[in-house]
Amino acid sequence: MNIILLGPPGAGKGTQAKRLEEKYGLVQLGTGDMLRAERASGSALGKEVQAIMDAGRLVSDDIMIKLIASRIDGAAKGFILDGFPRTVPQAQALDAMLAQKGLKLDRVIEITVDQAALIDRLAGRFTCANCGASYHDTNHRPAREGVCDVCGHKEFVRRADDRPEAVRIRFEAYRQQTAPILPYYQDKGILTRVDGMADIDEVTRQIVAVLSKIAA
Ligand code: ADP
Ligand code: ADP
Ligand code: ZN
Repeated sequence: MNIILLGPPGAGKGTQAKRLEEKYGLVQLGTGDMLRAERASGSALGKEVQAIMDAGRLVSDDIMIKLIASRIDGAAKGFILDGFPRTVPQAQALDAMLAQKGLKLDRVIEITVDQAALIDRLAGRFTCANCGASYHDTNHRPAREGVCDVCGHKEFVRRADDRPEAVRIRFEAYRQQTAPILPYYQDKGILTRVDGMADIDEVTRQIVAVLSKIAA
């Protein structure tokens, strides 16, 4: 099963991807996490994308398409794309890449959330410094205070691009560059919307209900 989670910054893509990864044995391909790992490793790519990411702008299609192409091969039981594609050219490149490998997309799930809730989610977000799992100051604290639920790590970070100035630019990038891929998938008949305003467990239930209709 190959799926895409789509939605604005803070919609809950990463949170849901982690849960689906466990439940279905899929590989989460989170491009934001990949880029942050490149930065942490001090690679040339990491240095190149640093300023763009912190400002809240999108990294170039060229870079992103190369980055994802090298990862899709490792996802034998299927993948969950989280954060890719984010532009129409990325969506087209993904189709070409999958066709070449004899793979296909089963579902694109759009997680919808009100703007006010998104602002609150990003302002309260903190993530595990090791595995990137997302938490929230009030909505979603780790089960054991100070310990990541997913990997047991004890350090957390806040993202530079969750500052209000960068958040404004990210919403604008979503509206102008990413939202146009929704009709692209709608036309293919594979787009489903879920209500991302519900609590985290309920959103997972909605997505599982959608995926249960797809043959594994
Ligand atoms: P995205 O990957 O789409 O940017 P995240 O999964 O990182 O979003 O979630 C953004 C923030 O909102 C995190 O702090 C997360 O804990 C919180 N969050 C995620 N889903 C929900 C939800 N359904 N209700 C309330 N808070 C949520
Ligand atoms: P969020 O969880 O808020 O949706 P991500 O963690 O997915 O954000 O992405 C963080 C940043 O990484 C983006 O603002 C952008 O700079 C860069 N990025 C991630 N994926 C892509 C992509 N597919 N195309 C362009 N830039 C990307
Ligand atoms: Zn962790």
